[in-house]
Amino acid sequence: MLKKITALMTALVLALTVAGCQGNKKVSDNTETEPKKELSSVEKIKQAGKIIVGTESTFPPYESIDPKDGKTVVGFDMDIAKAVADKLGVKLEIKDMKFDGLIGALSTGMLDFVAAGMTVTDERKQNADFSQIYYKGGQVLVILESNNSIKSAADMKGKKIGAQLGTTSEKAANLIKGINFKSMDKVDQLMMEVKNGMIDGVVVDDVVGIQYTKSLGGLKVVEIPELNEGDAGMGIAVQKGNEELLKVINDTIDELKTNGGFDKLTEKWGLLRQD
Ligand code: GLN
Repeated sequence: MLKKITALMTALVLALTVAGCQGNKKVSDNTETEPKKELSSVEKIKQAGKIIVGTESTFPPYESIDPKDGKTVVGFDMDIAKAVADKLGVKLEIKDMKFDGLIGALSTGMLDFVAAGMTVTDERKQNADFSQIYYKGGQVLVILESNNSIKSAADMKGKKIGAQLGTTSEKAANLIKGINFKSMDKVDQLMMEVKNGMIDGVVVDDVVGIQYTKSLGGLKVVEIPELNEGDAGMGIAVQKGNEELLKVINDTIDELKTNGGFDKLTEKWGLLRQD
């Protein structure tokens, strides 16, 4: 009986040892086929041969659809994004999406960075990291040229006021008490609503408002000081913690600022020089 048990136990120990060895073998095999070190974010981009920028294309002159082909997104931000891609020696792929979904898409890794005239805010900084400020602007109200009833924040009371969903323009509009607020995904739609008399005005970034008054006609820009509280300026966003790509972007902005490229771009896109 004792012999039998000893034999059984020996067999069991043997079996376990063999299983253990196999287990070890398997693990070591796995590590051999895996790359030694995870690729860094920039290495991954270089390996893919492209970098993906997210934006929203109804925001001229920062980004808009090129009327020449009706599909390419062009603008000040896209030229900066292209400079980032050039610095890395990769192609730039542009994803045109809802402004409100950009940070989420960045967090999931669908985008490498966001260049969308995006104002740096504490709220956004919780979910993304931002480059240095590359442009500063303010908020204005765009109304019909023929409308003489809105000249101040007080005049906005009871009026139908729109802004793009998820923007600081939306926040700024809602600082004005008593407005009848409407948000939409696209700035061009909002401008058409003003033109058609569906809403009284749109709160939007100043340069963008000016651009639409020029391209659409029949609209004017009203400056409302109350819409401009604590705007930090615009930055390019990367996934939280992606210091490596952030450095490439900050270096690109530095270079554009020192080699005159930035001035050329502000002139090309009709932005005000900021120095
Ligand atoms: N600057 C504004 C913001 O960051 C609007 C940006 C935009 O509409 N593209 O919210």
